[in-house]
Amino acid sequence: MPESDVLIEARREMEICNACRYCEGFCAVFPAMARERAFSGADLTYLANLCHNCQGCYYACQYAPPHPFGVNVPRTFALLREESYRRYSWPQPLARAFESNGFVVASTTAVSLAGVLLAVVALTERGTLARGHAGPGAFYEIVPWAAMTGVALVTMLFSILALAMGAAMFWREAGSAVAPRSRAIVRGLRDALTLRNLGGGGHGCNDSDEAFSQRRRYLHHAMAYGFLACFASTTTAAFYAYFLGRPAPYALFSLPVVLGAIGGAGLLAGTSGLIWLKIVSNRASAAERLFGGDFALLGLLWLAAASGLLLLGLRTTDAMGTLLAIHLGLILSLFLLLPYSKFVHGVYRSLALIRDAADRHAADPTV
Ligand code: SF4
Ligand code: SF4
Repeated sequence: MPESDVLIEARREMEICNACRYCEGFCAVFPAMARERAFSGADLTYLANLCHNCQGCYYACQYAPPHPFGVNVPRTFALLREESYRRYSWPQPLARAFESNGFVVASTTAVSLAGVLLAVVALTERGTLARGHAGPGAFYEIVPWAAMTGVALVTMLFSILALAMGAAMFWREAGSAVAPRSRAIVRGLRDALTLRNLGGGGHGCNDSDEAFSQRRRYLHHAMAYGFLACFASTTTAAFYAYFLGRPAPYALFSLPVVLGAIGGAGLLAGTSGLIWLKIVSNRASAAERLFGGDFALLGLLWLAAASGLLLLGLRTTDAMGTLLAIHLGLILSLFLLLPYSKFVHGVYRSLALIRDAADRHAADPTV
């Protein structure tokens, strides 16, 4: 693995941490660091993706700036994680999307929105967008069912393939040397789903100062589970339409609508809170260079949730057509950007947690 300045800095800091070990009980990173004999590039990539960026070790560190050692693990690992997103991008030329990621996310969103709106205007009867549509199949008078599902399926499948290729490359280089048993996989996934390592030793994250808080963990849960509920809503709606012959829109208390409303509310609350926490975060321990991409993805998720809820609330009015086209444009950009935005951190962090569980078990079979 070619060594970047960030990688070399991460090694320097881990060597200091390995001698110090003060933060051993903070998260999975420090015990995992202590299990390594030398810090190869792959090991450092694994440790960086194991880090949940809780900031705890920065506030605890006696060697943090202005100390001459300048240890700043959260910032260094955030930069190294971003390098790993580029390294494991598939296809490789699209790794460039992580350079100026904020611009890439914003411009893809703008192009998707404009594309869907223009396509609807061009391919439907004049005035379709401005007219009210009601009853079963009303959505498909704006965007035909075949076009809606066809575009969603192609973009989603491509994104899943790109994420899977990235995951395979990550595991080949930075995964565990021992094949993980099912117990390790379950443990790793459980740690990913509960964000156990955002506990900072039980007290939570240091959002902006020395004070501990569980806010970030709960907001991340609201966002992640909101996203999953929205995905379940879309899948259920597709099942209803394709297999049961029941076209959208659905009744207020139907499964797709209930899942979508709960998911949308969670997404809206989670992303609003996370945007706020990022605004008030301490810049000294943050990788500010990456803020553009972080804000852009949070903003896109916020817009997707807000437009979905607005569509639900106004679907019997003349605004329905325009709102549906806007919502679909935002969902299209989200599908396209899954492998080329911070969304990928969920995949690599889950794999790092699975390696952590496998390595812990290999070191001590009673664990
Ligand atoms: S972050 Fe600082 S205090 Fe914590 S282990 Fe490393 S050197 Fe020690
Ligand atoms: S998870 Fe928190 S304590 Fe652990 S390395 Fe990352 S910032 Fe430091």
